[in-house]
Amino acid sequence: MDSYDVVIAGYGPTGSMLAVKLGSCGWRVLVLERQGPSYPLPRAAHLDDEVCRMLRGIGIPPSDIPDVIEPYEDFYEWRDADGDPLLRLDWRGRGPSGWNVSNFFHQPALEDHVRRLASAMENVTVRRGHQAISHTSDCDGVTVHVSAGEDAYQVRGRYVVGADGAHSVVRDWAGTRMEDVGYFSDWLVVDVIADAAFTVKPPALQICDPRRPTTLVPAGPGRRRWEFMRHAGEDPAVFGTEATAWQLLRSWGVSPDNASLVRQAMYTFQARWAEQWRNGRLILAGDAAHQMPPFAGQGMCSGLRDVMNLYWKLDLVLRGADNGLLDTYGPERSGHVRDFIGFSMELGNLICATDPEAVRARDARMKAEAAEVSDLPPRPLPRLGPGLHTGQGCAGTVAPQGIVCAEHAQGLLDDVIGPGGGAHRTSGRTGRRDQRPACRAGCRRCPHRRDWRVARRGYRRGRRWHLCCLARPVRGAGRTRPPRLLRVRGRRRGPDGARSRQAIPRPAPISTGHTGEER
Ligand SMILES: Cc1cc2nc3c(=O)[nH]c(=O)nc-3n(C[C@H](O)[C@H](O)[C@H](O)COP(=O)(O)OP(=O)(O)OC[C@H]3O[C@@H](n4cnc5c(N)ncnc54)[C@H](O)[C@@H]3O)c2cc1C
Repeated sequence: MDSYDVVIAGYGPTGSMLAVKLGSCGWRVLVLERQGPSYPLPRAAHLDDEVCRMLRGIGIPPSDIPDVIEPYEDFYEWRDADGDPLLRLDWRGRGPSGWNVSNFFHQPALEDHVRRLASAMENVTVRRGHQAISHTSDCDGVTVHVSAGEDAYQVRGRYVVGADGAHSVVRDWAGTRMEDVGYFSDWLVVDVIADAAFTVKPPALQICDPRRPTTLVPAGPGRRRWEFMRHAGEDPAVFGTEATAWQLLRSWGVSPDNASLVRQAMYTFQARWAEQWRNGRLILAGDAAHQMPPFAGQGMCSGLRDVMNLYWKLDLVLRGADNGLLDTYGPERSGHVRDFIGFSMELGNLICATDPEAVRARDARMKAEAAEVSDLPPRPLPRLGPGLHTGQGCAGTVAPQGIVCAEHAQGLLDDVIGPGGGAHRTSGRTGRRDQRPACRAGCRRCPHRRDWRVARRGYRRGRRWHLCCLARPVRGAGRTRPPRLLRVRGRRRGPDGARSRQAIPRPAPISTGHTGEER
């Protein structure tokens, strides 16, 4: 029987990102994907600055794939049935992670880029058309029973991660209950490639018209998406058809003469999360652990955040750290994702309102609020749930990334001291000093701790490193959000005290003697 360090069930965005992250740590990874060819149709269309930072971290900076990811530099406007504005969210500029706060992309193309990285790794094996069916667990690992067409076989994994989507079988194996907080009515999602002449201003719109709540957003270069809510009385079989899609698009001046239909599909949006994200050697990530209505564009982003929280903990545990470290993964991620689920539901409640009285009250309230505060910035990212961080001040919030300059390099922090997408601060008070990067783990064996120490040592000044971390607005580096970004100035001195132009060293891998850590 073949044996792996980690078996991942599911090769969607979550599974493929996890395969890349664990693969680059040197672990033997097997990915099982029940579908033969890749799913060719996009679901997610929006990603945020934190995901851009993660992509940069695996060597796919969004700026290198402009045909796939398009930074958004405009407002996201909500309008009432008469077309009057209810709310304007300012989605321009860069977010705390140093990339555009809002980006629209073509999901299948992005997934191809990530999967190409995974396939290029010798220690990562991907088996398509192979479905995880059942399992047996013991104290050393998990045996997964796999079905592949006519064939059936078994594989061993020291850990199994269920990145197998909303109907996760791994979740069933783990015996996890889902906390379900409701669902929203069905929506018809329609993607088109429209004539270059077709424009809408601003390109991202929410039409809060009770006759037909509609979302209209870009969907990656050259593509557009419409989402139309189905009313309770409408027949789902008819509403989900191509004919309905064209009929609804007509009011936007879109027809087969000026656009081609990429797809139309109906989705029932759900809001739920797993009560337990890990049971022994079975771990959940992505849609297997949580689902939310897509009104905030955060489902896939949340799955990728799961990966960033999980991969380094799994890496350390596979190297010999106490597996109790993995117990912090679920509570940290669950607390964070529940905030987004709640936010998505709040948006959904506003967007999906059809009762005339409720709609009138909503419109009056939103217009009054808009008169007081116009052009709202995006809301701050939530904090991780309880786990490794202290829970005080800014601990558990995302570590911001600014433009930094050191003697040898200048650019985004990750470009200067190495990738750090998904980094969260583990401790700190609010205020200027807290803009310093902190060890994301607070764990003595965390390899990333050394990255951050480079900066911290410098902050103290003196000794070998002369890196100074200051928190102050960086002017001329795009819009800064939050107002304080990290600025690192630094120079390194050699043992003789002379300045050196050597790059800041990457941390050495921790040695445990396990073959999986060979890089
Ligand atoms: C209409 C719509 C719009 C959305 N818009 C956004 C957005 O703008 N931004 C955003 O961030 N998110 C958005 N989302 C959410 C996003 O698409 C999902 O959160 C994301 O795709 C989930 O990724 P995943 O890898 O966890 O799961 P999936 O993409 O569902 O992948 C799971 C994979 O596991 C495989 N699998 C299942 N069972 C098995 C098994 N037993 N063995 C082997 N393989 C198995 C499946 O074939 C599948 O390939 C949207 C969703 C919808 C429906």
